[in-house]
Amino acid sequence: MTAPFLSLAQIHNRLILTARWILRDHRPGPDGRCPVCRTADCPVAAAARDMLRVAREVHLWSTATQPAAPDRDEPQQAG
Ligand SMILES: [Zn+2]
Repeated sequence: MTAPFLSLAQIHNRLILTARWILRDHRPGPDGRCPVCRTADCPVAAAARDMLRVAREVHLWSTATQPAAPDRDEPQQAG
């Protein structure tokens, strides 16, 4: 079981790791076909590539917009 609460960085890392595993499994063979899906245009690999791209963009985005002041104007309410 995974921990119930993950930090955004942990989720980000898991997304990238999972996408890489998927891409490795669904890498096209010499004939250009995915060995798992047996199609030339594997939708799973395409989705994994999209996931990796988005994960990188989000990572760049979040590092570029680090909040300068930690005390944001957010209400701290219990519940
Ligand atoms: Zn595939």
